[in-house]
Amino acid sequence: MPPGAWFAWDMAWRVAAGLRHSRGPVCILALTSDPPAPGGISPLAKGNAGLFNAAVLHQQTLSRPAGYSGVGLHSGNRVTMTFLPAPANAGIRFRRVDLEGKPEIEARVENVVENNRSTTLAKGNTRVHTVEHVLAAFAGYGIDNAVVELDSNEPPIADGSSREFCKMIQAAGIAPQIERLDPYKVTAPIELRMGETEMVLLPDEGFKITCTSSDKEARFTQFFTLEVTPKTWERELAHARTFCFYEEIEYLIKNGLIKGGSLENAVVIRDDAVLTTEPLRYPEEFVRHKMLDIVGDLSLLGRPLHGHLIAVKPGHAANCELVRLVNAQMRRPLAAAQTFGPPPAVSEEGEELPAAPVEAVAQEGGMDTVQIMQILPHRHPFLMVDRVVKIDGNFITGIKNVTINEIFFQGHFPGHPIMPGVLQLEAIAQVAGILMMKRAESRGQLAYFMSAEDVKWRKPVVPGDVLVVEVELIKVRGKIAKAKGVCKVRGEIVSEAAVTFILREKQLT
Ligand SMILES: [Zn+2]
Repeated sequence: MPPGAWFAWDMAWRVAAGLRHSRGPVCILALTSDPPAPGGISPLAKGNAGLFNAAVLHQQTLSRPAGYSGVGLHSGNRVTMTFLPAPANAGIRFRRVDLEGKPEIEARVENVVENNRSTTLAKGNTRVHTVEHVLAAFAGYGIDNAVVELDSNEPPIADGSSREFCKMIQAAGIAPQIERLDPYKVTAPIELRMGETEMVLLPDEGFKITCTSSDKEARFTQFFTLEVTPKTWERELAHARTFCFYEEIEYLIKNGLIKGGSLENAVVIRDDAVLTTEPLRYPEEFVRHKMLDIVGDLSLLGRPLHGHLIAVKPGHAANCELVRLVNAQMRRPLAAAQTFGPPPAVSEEGEELPAAPVEAVAQEGGMDTVQIMQILPHRHPFLMVDRVVKIDGNFITGIKNVTINEIFFQGHFPGHPIMPGVLQLEAIAQVAGILMMKRAESRGQLAYFMSAEDVKWRKPVVPGDVLVVEVELIKVRGKIAKAKGVCKVRGEIVSEAAVTFILREKQLT
């Protein structure tokens, strides 16, 4: 346990409980009086105004390493963190130097595994907790590429804001890179409702946040709006500290969620009083901290975002879900095009080729759903082939139309529908099974899936996509057969696998 942590919480309890014998300096601010203006915050960017150019066109990294040691909020352990430069397009990566092989985790929403009170990233068995205040510092300053080395499972909590991390970036310096920046401009409004949280992300030329935060009883409703640039980030958001409600402290301590928690790194609210070791840093410090968290969580998109976010009662789970919705919008133009039919094939010279004679091929060895069901035992919703368009020797091509009505989209994932990769593997196996069954010697048997190798999922498959499943039978020995298959969408491979079967007589039941 870090020295002082329990002491400070104990002190918070005592003060909050109205006991007068607290052992150290604690400010108790009555909420009815105006909080002090955020004076005394010296800009971190002294003499470096040139670094904070909102119209940055190129990627940026750090000029040199910078380090900081402190206590982790969850574990209460001492942790040393080092920021290092990284090559263009590397993104922000966390590196656990305390683990064998020094595993890395990319700061991307795909690696988010927990959003309870903070944002946790994981890859394999490697985890990093509470990444958002560090990510916010990078995103706020417009740093695209960096490595964050940690000798523990979370960054130091410091003072509960991003201030120390901004100082580290100042010490490291910001270096432009040759590669161009690729921001994503929101093309149409994105809406999100999650519990009490409501968010709308609108198209905008820059990055703007308009935020309202509130607790259950609406005692601390605050509002703030800001065009986020490196300069406004540093001045208006970076210093806002984490806060928590008195009612939550007991739960957090009992559940070991804040072993490093103290009044040094959080503001505690009870009823109409605010417990803090220093005056509030901004009149609306709470909502500004919520916006700091948004800046950090939204950077998990992996590229800068241009849009105006209007958020009511935001939280980490909603922030990350919004990133997933932005990801879905980035892919949507392709999906929308697909609903009007496959794009015409174009040769290298640019002239249109005749459309693939699917119907003709179908007549020459293709099969419709009824014929497929005479061969495969699978039925809706587990029949993953709508049509076989071609069988040619050891080659077969099947088609699966992926529609929003698929039963798996109801839970995988609502608001962000993606076809499960294992069902694409199933589609490869079923198409391979049809080919096996078409062989004269296989009649009256069933193909049992034995193994899958070299399985790779390369791109997400979304409603509106047409999955083209191409399979080649590569080996048949006795009752065992091996096939290689790929799933394609618009000619691009989205998944692939090699599957092995064994043929067995149908068991009579
Ligand atoms: Zn936070």
